[in-house]
Amino acid sequence: MKPDEYDIIIVGGGIHGVGVAQAAAAQGYSVLLLEQSALAAGTSSRSSKLIHGGLRYLESAQFNLVRECLQERSLLLKNAPDLVELKPFYIPIYSETRRPAWQIRAGLSLYSTLGGLSGDTRFKVVPKRHWNQLDGLDQQDLKKVFRYYDAQTDDERLTEAVMRSAQSLGAELEMPAQLIEAQRDNHSYLVRYQKNEQQIECRANLLVNAAGPWVNDVLNKVTHKVSQLAVDLIQGTHIILEGCLNQGIYYMEAPEDKRAVFVMPWKGNIMVGTTESFYHGNPAKVHPLAKEKSYLLQTLGYYFPKYRYHRLQDIIDSFAGLRVLPRTEGTAFSRPRDTIFHTDQADDPRLVTIYGGKLTAYRATAEKLINEFKHVLPDRPAIADTKNLALTSQ
Ligand SMILES: Cc1cc2nc3c(=O)[nH]c(=O)nc-3n(C[C@H](O)[C@H](O)[C@H](O)COP(=O)(O)OP(=O)(O)OC[C@H]3O[C@@H](n4cnc5c(N)ncnc54)[C@H](O)[C@@H]3O)c2cc1C
Repeated sequence: MKPDEYDIIIVGGGIHGVGVAQAAAAQGYSVLLLEQSALAAGTSSRSSKLIHGGLRYLESAQFNLVRECLQERSLLLKNAPDLVELKPFYIPIYSETRRPAWQIRAGLSLYSTLGGLSGDTRFKVVPKRHWNQLDGLDQQDLKKVFRYYDAQTDDERLTEAVMRSAQSLGAELEMPAQLIEAQRDNHSYLVRYQKNEQQIECRANLLVNAAGPWVNDVLNKVTHKVSQLAVDLIQGTHIILEGCLNQGIYYMEAPEDKRAVFVMPWKGNIMVGTTESFYHGNPAKVHPLAKEKSYLLQTLGYYFPKYRYHRLQDIIDSFAGLRVLPRTEGTAFSRPRDTIFHTDQADDPRLVTIYGGKLTAYRATAEKLINEFKHVLPDRPAIADTKNLALTSQ
């Protein structure tokens, strides 16, 4: 029997895979997505769950990334109101805070400008008389508190919603289905995947590798040699504790190393994250380390005295995810967070690998990918525009 043929086959049902499925189906292409376990089973359920421009990326001058993420944030607030919620963020400045108040003010002004100066990118200084409403934030040596707005989501539910949208436009999902081999012949890829006890073959004009931390494992399954980018996997952990934050999200400087750490309300509890440490090994086995949990607990207690005596056993849940960062000099923090599309052949690309990226920018990334590789696909009439597609929680 002839294998089923698709314009595009995508490997990986994280936010990037489902985003590409949605963008491709909207442009009229036939699409199959293969996910080995469950939608958002990898990094896309272990993020900080922020739909944000990334204020901290201003320090490494990644202005285009911040601008794009802020535009995507506006679209998501419009298209997915039950999944993405605008929240106040508070930045407290103490006498020992590394970044002085003038620098934070300058950063917030730039953030607002990059966000088009719209109402939801404005910021203000919280008057001292209101500090006692800030969820028990330590006021000793507190000099100033800034408030600005960014958004929060449920990353897993957002990923599922984008897949539902893709399916409503005709995309197919095979799950659990694991890619086991891909072979290029002329202008297409023959793909073999495992579903239950069965091995199934299908063919694609374009194969998209959206396997997150598994991207290079997927490239190792291609029968001929294809180049790979050297990457580091950076582990980031979050912890969850009983408690509540009524005002919003707090953007803190960890006392140990001055990294940015968020303290956030999460499903009636408090979530704190994240950390950054190199990870080696099987991405499926990543798990929070005791030293990461202690670091996050210490940061929480340092700023919120009522949690000062909490111990590791008070943590009710924790999870770790992996960022994929192309290997360069410098700390993980300072490396560019731009997404890279890496192809098997420059003149006739039939395999595209997505390295890196952000949850927030998934739609823009997916649109760029489809537009960049359209020339190897047959002409199809578009049936929708992802800018206007509603995403619903059911
Ligand atoms: C700690 C942390 C915090 C973050 N916080 C934020 C944030 O607040 N805001 C933000 O915008 N971004 C954030 N990010 C970035 C964002 O979460 C990631 O860029 C995004 O989730 C990556 O999605 P992905 O689809 O590329 O990978 P993944 O979500 O990992 O998906 C890859 C999928 O591929 C599947 N797969 C692998 N191999 C195969 C195979 N052979 N066959 C079939 N399927 C396969 C896996 O099962 C997995 O589901 C954060 C990242 C980390 C690590």
